[in-house]
Amino acid sequence: MRKVVAKFGGTSLADAGQFRKIKQIVKADAGRRFIVASAPGKRFSEDVKVTDLLLRAFGQAVAGQPFEATLALIDGRYRSIVEELGLDFPLSEEIAKLRAHLMDAPSRDYVLSRGEYLNAKLLAQYLGYTFVDPEWCVCFDSEGRLDAALSRRTMGAALRPLENAVIAGFYGADMDGNVRTLSRGGSDVTGSLAAAAIDADLYENWTDVSGLLAADPRIVPEPKTVPFVSYRELRTLSYMGASVLHTDAVLPVSDMDIPINIRNTDRPEDAGTTILRRLPKGETKYPIIGVAGRVGMSVIQVEKVMASDGSGFTAVMLDILKNRQLPFETCLTGIDTVTLVIRSDLLAPCKDDLFDEIRATLKPDYLGLTERLSMIAVIGEKDTESSDANLRVLQALLNAGMPINTINQGAGKLNLLIGVPEEKYEEAIRAIYRTIDESL
Ligand code: ASP
Repeated sequence: MRKVVAKFGGTSLADAGQFRKIKQIVKADAGRRFIVASAPGKRFSEDVKVTDLLLRAFGQAVAGQPFEATLALIDGRYRSIVEELGLDFPLSEEIAKLRAHLMDAPSRDYVLSRGEYLNAKLLAQYLGYTFVDPEWCVCFDSEGRLDAALSRRTMGAALRPLENAVIAGFYGADMDGNVRTLSRGGSDVTGSLAAAAIDADLYENWTDVSGLLAADPRIVPEPKTVPFVSYRELRTLSYMGASVLHTDAVLPVSDMDIPINIRNTDRPEDAGTTILRRLPKGETKYPIIGVAGRVGMSVIQVEKVMASDGSGFTAVMLDILKNRQLPFETCLTGIDTVTLVIRSDLLAPCKDDLFDEIRATLKPDYLGLTERLSMIAVIGEKDTESSDANLRVLQALLNAGMPINTINQGAGKLNLLIGVPEEKYEEAIRAIYRTIDESL
C-alpha cells in the first residue's frame, strides 16, 4: 500500500473545526498513515500561536513573574478542541504537569515542546491513531543539534510496526533524555525525517496556502501557483525569502527522492505544488517557474588594469572578505574588474575599514560603491539551455525601461540574478512575472 506522511501546520490544527477538516482529508486516502502535527497556530490574524504563548509563560516563569493568566490561555485553546470534539482527554492533568515544571527551574525546550505534544495527543485520539512521542525517536546530540541519520533509523524502527500514527512535530530528546526543540517551524523537518524513515512514497505538507506562488503576492496581484518545483529551485526561492517550508526539511526527503506536496487544508481539492528532484516531462511549458528577490544590497566595484594577468587579483579580494567573515551574494569578474554584491546591513559597520584595506592591498585604479540595490532571481532549471527564456526576461526589463546594474548567469541551467535599483525592484518583478504569467 502507498505510504504517505502528512504533516499539518499550526493553522491547519488551530481549532476543532480544523481538526474536523483534517479527519476528512486523512480518511479520504488510506495511504495517509503517518501524521505529523504542529501546535495550534493562529485562528485569525491578531491571534497568538500556542508556541508563542508557551514562550511567554516560560519568560514569565524565569523572570519570577506570574504566568497563570498565560497558562489559562493555553488551557483554553486545548479545552475548546477537547470539548467541541467530545474527546475524553485528561487536559487538567497535563496542564498541572506543565504548571509544576514552570514552577521548578523550567527548561525552555521542554516548555515549548508541549504545544505539539498536546496537539498530537489530541489528534491521535480523534483519529484513533497511535500517538508517537518524538522523545523516543527524534535524536539530538548533547549540543542540541539534530542527529538526522540516527533519527531516521530510530524513527523507522518506531513507525514501521505501526499501521498508523500521529507524531508530534518540532522536538525530540538528547542522549540524556532532555527534550530538545528544532528551530521555529521545525515540524516540517520532523515530517521530512518521518517520510525518509519509512521510505514514504510522498511527503504531504498541509498548510494554509495552495502551494508556492510564482511571485510575491504583495507585489504581483494574484500570482499563479507553481505546479512543480525542483528541490534546487526551492532552495533558491527560500534563499530569496519565499517561506513555505523550513529550509532543513528538504534534505532528508531529497536524499531519498521522495516528492513533497504542499497542500491547502482549507482547499483540499487544489493540487498544490509538488517539489521533486526532476521536473516531469511535458508538464512545464515555460522554463521559468518563478521570480523572487531581496532589497538592501550594495555593489563594490574594483578595477585595475592587468588584473586578469594571473596575479590572483580576484583571489586576494575574496581573501579579504573571507578574513573579515563578510559573505557576498554574487561575485562577477570581468577583464580587469571584480564586482561584488554584499548585503548592506553587513557592509555598513565595516565599510570604511574594508575600503582602506582594499586600497592598501590591491592598489586599484578605481574603487566604487553603489548602494540601495535589489537582487532579483529568475528561477527555472528545466530546458533553459535550449530556450530563449532569459532573453525574454531581459527584453521585458528593457521594454519597461529598467536600468540594470548587474547580470549574473552561470553556465548551463537558468539561475539568472539581476541587480536593479531598489526603487525599481517591484516594477522589475512585475515585468518579469508578466513573461511567466503568459506561459504558466
Ligand atoms: N510550533 C512551532 C512553531 O510555531 C513549530 C512548528 O509549527 O513547526 O514554530
